[in-house]
Amino acid sequence: MKVYKFGGASVRSADGVRNLAAVVAAELGRCEGSVDELRLVVVVSAMGKTTNALEAVVEALMAGDTARAAQLLAVSESYHRAIAEELFGDVPERVGELFAELGALVASGAGCENTENQTISIEGYSDAPVASGAVPDAVSGDRAGRSGGVSGGQAAVRCSGAREYDRWYDAIVSYGELISTTIVSEHLTRVGLANRRLDMRRCLITDARFREAGIDFAASELCLRRETAGASEPVWVGQGFIGATVDGQPTTLGREGSDYSAAVLAYLLDAESVTIWKDVEGILNADPRIFPDAVYIPELTYLDAIELAYGGAQIIHPKTIKPLYNKHIPLYVRPFAEPDKPGSVIRSEMAAPIDVPILIVKHDQALVSVRPNDFSFVLQERLGEIISHFESNRVKINLIQSSAVNLSLCVDNSRTLGEAIASLDGSFRVVYNDGMKLLTVRGYTPELLSRYEDRQGVFLMQKTRRIMRVVLRSDSLDEKTG
Ligand code: ASP
Ligand code: MG
Repeated sequence: MKVYKFGGASVRSADGVRNLAAVVAAELGRCEGSVDELRLVVVVSAMGKTTNALEAVVEALMAGDTARAAQLLAVSESYHRAIAEELFGDVPERVGELFAELGALVASGAGCENTENQTISIEGYSDAPVASGAVPDAVSGDRAGRSGGVSGGQAAVRCSGAREYDRWYDAIVSYGELISTTIVSEHLTRVGLANRRLDMRRCLITDARFREAGIDFAASELCLRRETAGASEPVWVGQGFIGATVDGQPTTLGREGSDYSAAVLAYLLDAESVTIWKDVEGILNADPRIFPDAVYIPELTYLDAIELAYGGAQIIHPKTIKPLYNKHIPLYVRPFAEPDKPGSVIRSEMAAPIDVPILIVKHDQALVSVRPNDFSFVLQERLGEIISHFESNRVKINLIQSSAVNLSLCVDNSRTLGEAIASLDGSFRVVYNDGMKLLTVRGYTPELLSRYEDRQGVFLMQKTRRIMRVVLRSDSLDEKTG
């Protein structure tokens, strides 16, 4: 059994959905034996730029502009309806229902931005994935017993305080994947490919860290098994990116999280491989828009891949590798437009080592310098404390460097950075530069090293024998121009 993941670009149009069906059909044709058992789990992202569009809906709603939220939603609805009409000549009832739910949800959000304890109700999403008692206590512990947020055929999301935005975000944005999988599953059915559509809110159980939820593997395994008990279809179709808490609140796994969903499902189901179908030929050693000499890498180890993804390469979600590594499941990255090409493979063994440097740029960074006011040594006495201020404000740290009484951190310049800095204020002196980028080079050459050593705009540089990392101003020269 294999897992195939199709990203947003691969299903952005009716032709994309048809191509997906052709790729699925080809795989089933290759399978030997009977097809009344599972062959393929198809994980699908939201169509095209739908996640961005739904993010804009949330943004408008949380800014109190309900009319604009409704208007933006209508644009997304027409986009999906046009694809459905092109595929089916009509719009499947379930697609209409999902938009009705979403519309009602958005309408119910009016005034939420300044209301404590607002409840999000999702009609039709009938109960929590883990009903009380459905999962043995050993797995769900005390939490299954507290599945009280759900009643009367609705999933309820209680909003209050700082997490309000993120809960609304997950409740609304998760519809992108619910709608795409409905259309994909319907199309597969109509072209004769028997499949079962799964609701991942009932299969992947997560913590309540909205927008960046963590998977509970043990609970998910049980829920997935329960949801698919007796399934005889050769293909399952499930949403990437989404899950739910044990008491039924929808969650998302972080932007581009569908890759991670695919890896988690592969892990839970002991898949033989995962294939990510993308709009590129495979994995390149650098972004060709920045480094024109970029070359395609046919094979990578899990270690290379995880460093690459964490360093900011846009190929796969950084969390994807761990579950695959733990079960030695290979990951293929292949071009959906040319399904006969081999693409790249990530696995533990490599036929030959990579002989080109891998260059990754992470944009929108800030370089923050933190010094204890009382001159205590940062590493021995204050490290954990400083880090916790960033973590609790959900600011991602990408690089650290220390001296006696100073800690420099290169972090994502996210919405909450100001709060993290404010929370350090009082005990620490904090200065920072935004407008930075972080370049990671794996397997650097002497030429690359010297190219950056004296470059203008370089604020910090680190190197080990294999990896070089440079924090530099965003507007400093790229390879293309410099
Ligand atoms: N649809 C989500 C996003 O655009 C998840 C994904 O595509 O992996 O971020
Ligand atoms: Mg994507």
